[in-house]
Amino acid sequence: MPKLKVMIAGAGLGGLCLAQMLRRGDVEVEIFERDASPWDRPQGYRLHIDRDGVNALREVLPDNLYRLFEATAMRPLPFTTIVDTGLKELRRMPSGGHDKSPSHWLAEGIAQHVNVNRATLRHILLTGLQDVCRFGARLLRYETDAEGVTAVFADGSTERGDILVGADGIRSAVRRQRLPEARIMDTGVRAIYGRIPIEQAQRLLPKQVLADVFTVASDDRRVFLGLGPVVFPNRPHVASDKFAPEAGLSSQDDYVVCIIGGRREYFGNDDAMLREAGSQALQALSGRMLDGWPVAARAVPAQGDPTSFFSIEMHTSVPCDLGETSRATLLGDAIHAITPTLGRGANVAMRDAALLGHAIVAVERGEVGLALALNAYEREMTGYGFSVVRESASMGQRLMGQDPLPT
Ligand SMILES: Cc1cc2nc3c(=O)[nH]c(=O)nc-3n(C[C@H](O)[C@H](O)[C@H](O)COP(=O)(O)OP(=O)(O)OC[C@H]3O[C@@H](n4cnc5c(N)ncnc54)[C@H](O)[C@@H]3O)c2cc1C
Repeated sequence: MPKLKVMIAGAGLGGLCLAQMLRRGDVEVEIFERDASPWDRPQGYRLHIDRDGVNALREVLPDNLYRLFEATAMRPLPFTTIVDTGLKELRRMPSGGHDKSPSHWLAEGIAQHVNVNRATLRHILLTGLQDVCRFGARLLRYETDAEGVTAVFADGSTERGDILVGADGIRSAVRRQRLPEARIMDTGVRAIYGRIPIEQAQRLLPKQVLADVFTVASDDRRVFLGLGPVVFPNRPHVASDKFAPEAGLSSQDDYVVCIIGGRREYFGNDDAMLREAGSQALQALSGRMLDGWPVAARAVPAQGDPTSFFSIEMHTSVPCDLGETSRATLLGDAIHAITPTLGRGANVAMRDAALLGHAIVAVERGEVGLALALNAYEREMTGYGFSVVRESASMGQRLMGQDPLPT
């Protein structure tokens, strides 16, 4: 019987999901994360989780952690609502047109669309993995041979295993080596994210903003204001330290994430300024981006927590062919980075993790050979992954004037 050792580069959502699944399948796993701690970099606030994400989490997590995910997930009404620049409703569209099911609920009574706090979900995914997760370990490159793969780290150390999984995000070192021709493209869209505390949001925003998955307004320039609530359910219970001491969860503030975005021209074509500006300068800039909008919307950024604003440059991967299978494989943003437009990147990364986890567990059990299992995984994963990349790019082109993918 094979006794595999799997090395994962990257302790993001995809890498952690895979590690959880491998643990359940009794496969030896080690995770190597570049950052010194899980909370080193702000990575955003709200995550929209759809049925891909919910299904993947149910497969990879032990029951107690899955229940914790459910208990900390807000169940919004399954709509994205389009409002005018005065925040008056224009139309409500069912969220997630990609999953053809008309129902808000999966068969088991679980919501198809939930909003979660990203840090809370990462906390849940890290639970029980502390002993196999090495922080401050930046993968530089790898070497493969007939018997295995050697990972080489920035501090000069090496590790040996049977499989290396590049779950190391959009700038993946594994992808750069395995697929040097693969491209990441700047979409030309920039955005500023901030958090509005729930008390201010309740005073300022229409009720539906606090109930729906997402609400968005945009103007003739396609400059947009997006709003997504994260309201912690069952707060009285969850706030108790008894609720989830193993995950270190005690409380979480409710908020509405607010996003102000558009083509980089409207941000003065000044990426250096956006990168260097502090939170308060970005908050002020967000307000100026909405100059000319009715006051109801223009006043929104000013209500945000002044320490919470950060900017992003939206990039996308360009779909490509993975070629021959290798002992170094890829998942999530490392292979199919998806713009945040549809809120699907994390969901697809977690779907990859569940699929790859099943494939590796089958190899461990001697049911299939390694090369065959990885080949089947990569074919299926690139099929759905790149199709979401294209879907998100084309929506971004229509809604935000994003540069098109090369044909
Ligand atoms: C502002 C914003 C909002 C978003 N909202 C949503 C949403 O609502 N819903 C949704 O589904 N998606 C959303 N996304 C997309 C989602 O965040 C990503 O698709 C998702 O995080 C990808 O997961 P991942 O595990 O592949 O990569 P990541 O989460 O990026 O994790 C990669 C990890 O690898 C580590 N790493 C990098 N290089 C190395 C190295 N050389 N060695 C070791 N470790 C390394 C990084 O530090 C990181 O921890 C959003 C993205 C942004 C930017």
